Amino acid sequence: MRPDVLNPLFAEVNSLAGVGPRLAKLFQRLAGARVVDLCWHLPSGLIDRRYRPTLAEAEPGRIATLEVQVIGHHKPATARAPWRILCRDEHHELELVFFRGKEGWLQKLLPQGERRLVSGRLEIFNGRFQMTHPDYVVAPEEDKSLPLIEPVYPLTAGLAQRLVQRTVRAAIEQAPNLPEWQEEHLLRARRWPSWRDALLAAHQPQQEKDISPEAAARQRLAYDELLANQLALALIRLNQKRASGRSQKGDGRHVQAALNALPFPLTRSQQSALEEIKADMASSNRMLRLLQGDVGSGKTVVALLAMLTAVEAGQQAALMAPTEILARQHFKTILPLAQAAGLEIELLTGRDRGSARRQALERLRDGTSPLAVGTHALFQEEVAFRNLGLAVIDEQHRFGVHQRLQLAQKGKGVDVLVMTATPIPRTLVLTAYGDMDVSRLTEKPAGRQPVDTRTLPLDRLNEVVSAIGRALQRGAKVYWVCPLVEESEALDLADAEARYGALCEHFPGRVALLHGRMKGPEKDAAMQAFVEGPADILVATTVIEVGVDVPAATIMVVEQAERFGLAQLHQLRGRIGRGTGRSTCLLLYKPPLNKTAHQRLSILRQSEDGFRIAEEDLRLRGAGELLGTAQSGLPRFRLADVEAHGDLLAMARDHAALIIARNPELQGQQGEALRTLLYLFERDTAVQYLRSG
Ligand code: ADP
Ligand code: MG
Repeated sequence: MRPDVLNPLFAEVNSLAGVGPRLAKLFQRLAGARVVDLCWHLPSGLIDRRYRPTLAEAEPGRIATLEVQVIGHHKPATARAPWRILCRDEHHELELVFFRGKEGWLQKLLPQGERRLVSGRLEIFNGRFQMTHPDYVVAPEEDKSLPLIEPVYPLTAGLAQRLVQRTVRAAIEQAPNLPEWQEEHLLRARRWPSWRDALLAAHQPQQEKDISPEAAARQRLAYDELLANQLALALIRLNQKRASGRSQKGDGRHVQAALNALPFPLTRSQQSALEEIKADMASSNRMLRLLQGDVGSGKTVVALLAMLTAVEAGQQAALMAPTEILARQHFKTILPLAQAAGLEIELLTGRDRGSARRQALERLRDGTSPLAVGTHALFQEEVAFRNLGLAVIDEQHRFGVHQRLQLAQKGKGVDVLVMTATPIPRTLVLTAYGDMDVSRLTEKPAGRQPVDTRTLPLDRLNEVVSAIGRALQRGAKVYWVCPLVEESEALDLADAEARYGALCEHFPGRVALLHGRMKGPEKDAAMQAFVEGPADILVATTVIEVGVDVPAATIMVVEQAERFGLAQLHQLRGRIGRGTGRSTCLLLYKPPLNKTAHQRLSILRQSEDGFRIAEEDLRLRGAGELLGTAQSGLPRFRLADVEAHGDLLAMARDHAALIIARNPELQGQQGEALRTLLYLFERDTAVQYLRSG
């Protein structure tokens, strides 16, 4: 249970004074529904009103606070014209401008003959000083009420800066003093304040450098968040390892049978990854390993051989894929190899119903089938295994930590192998998995040819279509990727259905369409038409992005490539260049390209190295967007910025490891404080893994 001390932070935003249901909705959109979300909504800048020149000294364009005397009001001649109020200091005049000003209100705010402090942006208009809608107007004796420095917050439509300032201030005033979870020597060495002081300071920047990620208060908050992340992952991992694993040693007969049935030898990378995996499986510790390999590097075979090792050891093994299409494709790849080894295998997806499904479930439950391939349907409640020993999870970044755990919980001490084709930079691996063991496939299967990648403006579409016509005559197969399914005028995206129609006219009977809104059997039919004929062109939305394997396809056209993420384009391009034929990737863009878009597309032309591309992407776009936010499954940080705080991330990892080594149950005062930290950052699940949690 979350400690009571945190309750004020987890109250709803509408518990704050002045926030009703309407504003609560807006704040929810801006930052989140709870007080803590507003606390994490840090300022992006500040307004400094300490500049108090006379008009003689004043630099136009700056925010200035000026003391002036009100000379007279000029009522507007028409309703649309502004009120002008003439003021002056010792030597110069200043005109204050108010659109839609109300006479009475203005007279009261700026009574003729009185002195006033006005603060706002000073401008020069028609050779005279002017300030439009001053931010503050106060009497000189009330100068204390004028905030000299104001934080500036990111806004959303419908919320004004002043209101956000006020509400965030109310939120941070609710922040309690919390027990210190950081080591004292660390705080001293880094000159970091306590949590509450850090929060207050982060919201009260005094100068520009207080806004930067290097500011002490921001570093402290970011480090807290990263430590919570790393500690939670370490606890989950500890728990998984502690649920003592099983020693799965195979005798090699199924693996050998499958290898004999494969039309190719394993690459050296595949062999050594398999050895690492087998060693983990043989040990009585639980395996938690990431198999990372660029698209096309051949992870699936490695996974299958690991699964067969589990079967040799008398256990069952399951492979989970993120999409229906992929699950079916894996099933098709694995089926003949399983058959070569004389083994039954089940396919389980959300689509299968009825008696076939019941029988499949039965065969997994009683162990008749040692192998299963499926989508997340695999971890639904009614799925039970007699003896699950290995869970393989493909294209890992699409699943969250919870889903991974759910599958692993279908058996006791299940070994877990996760595979990712998206080359996640080391720093992001850390945030997503903690200190996981990693095997890498560093080479591609022999005989692969580099993909010839070109960028072309969309207006050369006709040339592309004729080139494809020539390629089809040579027996090529073509992927044609469009960004969206249905015409959306607002977004002006190329439309898969329209493109399908147009290509059908050029190449009647040879085009298939595949998109996310089609029903399962329709998708299968489209895929099958492409793999086995008669279709030679597959027009698709990005549903083909992940993992699809059609070695005969040698041409990939991506329309409006500038709208895709680099990693995504690299994934797409990975669909071709799989066979021995020479492959071409055409990235069509809609001019004009801005500079970043241009740079991004050139990286793809220059490199096929997924890691290099991922790093460039990170540099150009920032980590949050790297994998496409919605589906990434990577944790998103509120306070930490994995690029700017990379050193803190490494520190947090080591720190978490040390905590786990010394105090794995988080006991004592420090332990209690660390639990509070985990709750503060909503790592509640991790706390549940503590025996005394
Ligand atoms: P990914 O790592 O992207 O998941 P796949 O496992 O889908 O890659 O493999 C891509 C293709 O490479 C498949 O057609 C597979 O049969 C083939 N392949 C895998 N290993 C080898 C190898 N050692 N030699 C030749 N082809 C291989
Ligand atoms: Mg794959």
